Amino acid sequence: MAATVIDGKALAAEMRAGVARGAGEFTSAHGRKPGLATVLVGDDPASLVYVGSKRKQTEEAGMRSIHHGIDAGVAQAELLELVDALARDEEVDGILVQLPLPSGLDQDEVIARIPAAKDVDGLTPESAGLLAQGRPGLVPCTPQGVIELLRAAGTELEGAEVAIVGRSILVGRPLAMLLVNASATVTMCHSRTRELPAVTRRADVLVAAAGSPGLVGAEMVKPGATVIDVGTNRTEDGLVGDVEFEAVREVAGAITPVPGGVGPMTIAMLLRNTLAAAQARAAARG
Ligand code: NAP
Repeated sequence: MAATVIDGKALAAEMRAGVARGAGEFTSAHGRKPGLATVLVGDDPASLVYVGSKRKQTEEAGMRSIHHGIDAGVAQAELLELVDALARDEEVDGILVQLPLPSGLDQDEVIARIPAAKDVDGLTPESAGLLAQGRPGLVPCTPQGVIELLRAAGTELEGAEVAIVGRSILVGRPLAMLLVNASATVTMCHSRTRELPAVTRRADVLVAAAGSPGLVGAEMVKPGATVIDVGTNRTEDGLVGDVEFEAVREVAGAITPVPGGVGPMTIAMLLRNTLAAAQARAAARG
């Protein structure tokens, strides 16, 4: 029997509606909207599209979008000053610096400058440390979206064998921490993993986050497994994931499509983080 296709688009719409309700309540209670500051350095076409969507969906959810588009030639010190100013700004609840930054800028230093309370991308060392220790904090958006998709699919995580293909700071590593915190048994795979198919075939949940089209074929999937495809690859055939969707859906129990799976969840989780940051900052002020 073909796998259930997990509808990330519908789930993301539901989550955005929940955020919009929360944003409305926040605005009534505090006399201002939750605010998300976006910083885009340079004019990379893909980044322009991503930031454009984030800003549009922020406004649609009843929150305030504050945008800073900066010339690619900006000095490191000037960029750090901007992050510091946004950190001090009481009306800014979340700070998002769109990555990658143009070469010549020290990305790690810029990200580390964002205070954990406003780190809606969850990428600062402090946020990563809190997550690794299983303590409350803002969690990276894509991994959080994967967890919500697994919940929506009714996939049991406690005691489950999970294989993640990809160990990036953005996706694989934080996702492994979230899954360990959910009591799954997690194996992280990467380009040096020996016998990758043997590892992935053991998994009740298989997450592909490698950026390699067609990497996961049907022979790599345990029958009945839940398969989450984070891969987003632009090819001549359009946008494709890392999973051979048509072949794998004949083996898996549930599967996410590309597009329409993980992608829409990422921005929904960014909006949720922004609202959570606004609420936490308001509660801390008393
Ligand atoms: P990344 O930083 O390039 O990391 C890729 C990871 O996959 C690395 O750990 C790499 O191993 C591993 N890998 C690559 N090819 C492999 C192979 N053939 N076998 C086993 N492991 C392999 O990428 P990323 O930023 O995590 O993104 C991964 C994918 O997710 C990309 O397609 C990206 O576009 C997509 N993505 C989608 C969203 C979304 O919202 N839908 C968000 C973020 C990313 P090594 O560490 O050994 O090099």
